[in-house]
Amino acid sequence: AGVGYLIQREYRRWRVLSAHMAQYYADFSLSPSQLMDLRNDFIEEARKGLRGEKSTCLMAPTMVDILPDGDEVGEYFALDIGGTNFRVIHVTLSMDKGEVVHVEMEDNAIPEEYFTCHGDMLFDLLASALVDFAKRHGRHSDDRPLPIGFCFSFPCTHTAIGEAVMVKLTKKFENEGMVGQDPAKGLQRALDRQKGNFKVAALINDSVGTLAGGCYVDADTKIGVILGTGTNACYAEQRSNIAALAKGRKNGREQQHPLMAINTEWGNFAAPSSPFTDIDRELDEETPNAGSHRFEKMVSGMYLGELARRAILRLAEQAQLFGPEVPPQLREPWALTSAALSKIDEDGSWLLSTTARELSETLGLPAALCTHTTCLRVKQVCHLVARRSAAVVAACLAGLLQQIDRDGAHTPMAPTTIAVDGGLFEHYQAYRAYLREYLDQMLGKQVSSLVKIVQIRDASSMGAAYLAAAIDEETQ
Ligand code: BGC
Ligand code: MG
Repeated sequence: AGVGYLIQREYRRWRVLSAHMAQYYADFSLSPSQLMDLRNDFIEEARKGLRGEKSTCLMAPTMVDILPDGDEVGEYFALDIGGTNFRVIHVTLSMDKGEVVHVEMEDNAIPEEYFTCHGDMLFDLLASALVDFAKRHGRHSDDRPLPIGFCFSFPCTHTAIGEAVMVKLTKKFENEGMVGQDPAKGLQRALDRQKGNFKVAALINDSVGTLAGGCYVDADTKIGVILGTGTNACYAEQRSNIAALAKGRKNGREQQHPLMAINTEWGNFAAPSSPFTDIDRELDEETPNAGSHRFEKMVSGMYLGELARRAILRLAEQAQLFGPEVPPQLREPWALTSAALSKIDEDGSWLLSTTARELSETLGLPAALCTHTTCLRVKQVCHLVARRSAAVVAACLAGLLQQIDRDGAHTPMAPTTIAVDGGLFEHYQAYRAYLREYLDQMLGKQVSSLVKIVQIRDASSMGAAYLAAAIDEETQ
């Protein structure tokens, strides 16, 4: 009776688990027609945003209407604050097209307390890092203030290239005194407090920096994408399609520079076709910006590991994935990082030993619980979560490509480069392959072969420096 009972119990457990997994497969894998719906909804939202109608996509005109072309010369600084780090950078650009003579950069992790402090304190941190850095590298100027590009990875609406209003905080940030204020002024004031002879020449989103960084090395670059802690995309749009610009006074640039970079802020994209699940809803409620940036929460590095953890926790609670007891470590929010998720997804070892190691090292689960069959389920969950992210990004990229080539002027399409920056893309090879696969599926092999997706390392911060250069060149 004992053995029969055990077999029956195991069989029942197996059936429940399989049913749960089947549900995950159904919820997280998107059919070609679902992806087409998502693409079409994204185009719809994007166009509403451009027309100035209510939309989940901000589609903010960035006032960037010149992009670097490699001719820039001189010495420039940039400050780049993203999701987990900030960076100070100094570049020397030469006359030879696209030649960077010298780059010095310094990365710093953002200390925990700076995610919740007052905005001014955050700007002081950035300003003092820049002033110190410049001192250490013997760079200072006694007369003309040194122009700096400020790469600020949050939604802003611009009135000029160096003047904007912050719309909201995203990712882990909860600082007071930022929303509704001008981050360029905030940084300038902090620099002045430090007696640094700098002038914030350009305030740019990291997706814009990535577009600029891409253009610097590849003239076919049409889209800049961030796949890091957060996600976003930027592309060049015809001025005539941007309602917000029609209202502003004309200044004579229009003929010379018919395109302007649009910050889509697709992180906030939502539509009836968005594949939100209960797990997405639960995760959203745990974030400081609940209800906002729902697309980002299905896509980016800050969230993928946590989505997988929640899915695995459900398997533990409802289908005894780890046996009769739920390991308490699994209940710790944010305990599973996206770095761990990527290693698990890419685990090609014979007995899934990498997965077992990640579960015991990152999550702290006892090794005895990490059996092969358990690891296999965990790996499947990580795989599904990552693939869904790549799928929805591909759908929006297909939408942007369609918007860029909307009059079909180029048949089938001019060669196009999509420049990507961000750790999720940089450190996760399988993810890059999924993205390519979904884009091929959506565009068809032939058109897709004209689209390059390239990782441009440091694109956003380099792009901020190039843009400061391009703008400085114009205004001198
Ligand atoms: C922000 C964007 C930014 C992206 C990537 C998002 O949370 O809203 O402005 O570009 O993260 O850093
Ligand atoms: Mg960045």
